[in-house]
Amino acid sequence: MSEDRPDDAVHESPGDRAEQAFTAAARLLATQPGSIQRALATHHHAPDGRCAACGTISRWPCAIATIAQRAARLTNP
Ligand SMILES: [Zn+2]
Repeated sequence: MSEDRPDDAVHESPGDRAEQAFTAAARLLATQPGSIQRALATHHHAPDGRCAACGTISRWPCAIATIAQRAARLTNP
């Protein structure tokens, strides 16, 4: 959002906001040494297609794995 276009937020879709939140979280995670590896070690693909850490809640990649994968790409493009 800029001062030139104060209504930008009105035109953002929920998907845009989710994408921005995932990117912001990935940037934050990328600043924490070892956090990407810890997140991916815990939130890995289970044989049933779900996240091993999130269990029955999420199919893999769950939100945490998605953020960690994005953070890994930010640190090793
Ligand atoms: Zn998970």
